[in-house]
Amino acid sequence: MMNISDIIVIGGGLVGSAVAYGLARQGAKVTLLDEGDQAFRASRGNFGLIWVQGKGFGMTPYARWTRLSAGLWPQLANALFDDTGIDVRLEQPGGFCFTFSDEEQEERRRRLQAIQDELSGDYPFEMLGRQEAIARVPALGPAVTGASYTPMDGHTNPLKLLRALHAANLERRVHYVSGQPVKTVTAQLRAGGSLFTVEGRWQAPRVVLAAGLGNPGLAEQLGLYAPVVPNRGQVLIGERTARFLEHPTLNVRQTDEGTIQLGDSMEEVGFNDNVTTGVMASIARRGVRTFPVLAGLRLVRAWGALRVMTPDGFPIYEESPKHPGAFVTTCHSGVTLAAAHAFRVAPWVAGASRPEEIGVFQAGRFSNPNYRPSHAH
Ligand SMILES: Cc1cc2nc3c(=O)[nH]c(=O)nc-3n(C[C@H](O)[C@H](O)[C@H](O)COP(=O)(O)OP(=O)(O)OC[C@H]3O[C@@H](n4cnc5c(N)ncnc54)[C@H](O)[C@@H]3O)c2cc1C
Repeated sequence: MMNISDIIVIGGGLVGSAVAYGLARQGAKVTLLDEGDQAFRASRGNFGLIWVQGKGFGMTPYARWTRLSAGLWPQLANALFDDTGIDVRLEQPGGFCFTFSDEEQEERRRRLQAIQDELSGDYPFEMLGRQEAIARVPALGPAVTGASYTPMDGHTNPLKLLRALHAANLERRVHYVSGQPVKTVTAQLRAGGSLFTVEGRWQAPRVVLAAGLGNPGLAEQLGLYAPVVPNRGQVLIGERTARFLEHPTLNVRQTDEGTIQLGDSMEEVGFNDNVTTGVMASIARRGVRTFPVLAGLRLVRAWGALRVMTPDGFPIYEESPKHPGAFVTTCHSGVTLAAAHAFRVAPWVAGASRPEEIGVFQAGRFSNPNYRPSHAH
């Protein structure tokens, strides 16, 4: 029997779940298909930052988009709490990035200043010398020479976020099918638009590809292009400890449960999500160098997970010119951008005009010989 809905979302990670949530809030009948545990799933292995600082250097629309999402995050956390009773533990007290030399400090200042100039001043940041940084974060070690701070940064509990999105989707009658790898999507042109058929069993006039690293093969079938590749990050978890860190930082954060999360690496090692002692050691060393109090900390867990990375690190949001109604949505900051996905991308998928900030994030940029962005990191 054919299952009919308004929109099929393929991929139930943070991107697909957030888009599905936004669609369901608008009253759409949504089917969400997910491959399951055998797939690589960045949404279950990330660092939990809602991070604005430094993002969009050389690509101003990305700075705007990231900022917009961070601003929408309280609305997302509240909506999820209202729908499910799950507190995703959102905190946005501003974030620090620490530096270990004057050169590093100057380079950071230059980048943040460039973004602020591009955003006509609407991008607050502070550069702090060592003493100012210690006054704000007393646990800093002697090797830290300074810091940058922006008030827009925050963090959440990313597993609670994923759970809340799934629970809210169930609450709003999204038809969630897990254990369903999608291999085939076909498009038929009818009077009034396209009709998409997935695996011969699900049909809808709109389909969203949000399958993370599974997107490239699906995109091809719909006249879309999603050149994403894996990029491994290793993450360490230290035992619960007395609270010493009130702010998220780029490499160390104390979670809502009191554990210490240390991260993360960026490695191009293909579809390999193992951990390695060399990388774990260097993550731990950097953590201890920043916060000597961590030297005696017992590590309780470590993992590797694969980011979903485009060639320039910026997202792809595109509707197929060949098969209107088919969309691809993919990015490597699915926590940070979850609110924008629910409240801006979902309405666009449902038929509203495309958010201004994301017009540049079409995959055609990769075939433009004049396109020279600096990488998202
Ligand atoms: C180590 C690490 C640290 C990170 N830290 C942060 C951070 O601090 N802040 C931040 O904003 N982001 C962070 N990220 C990135 C963030 O986790 C990802 O951007 C986000 O999880 C991507 O979500 P996704 O839904 O696109 O992909 P995934 O989580 O990979 O989900 C894709 C889903 O699609 C399904 N799927 C795949 N193929 C198919 C198919 N053919 N058919 C059906 N289903 C399919 C899979 O089952 C999976 O559930 C980090 C990532 C890593 C790895």
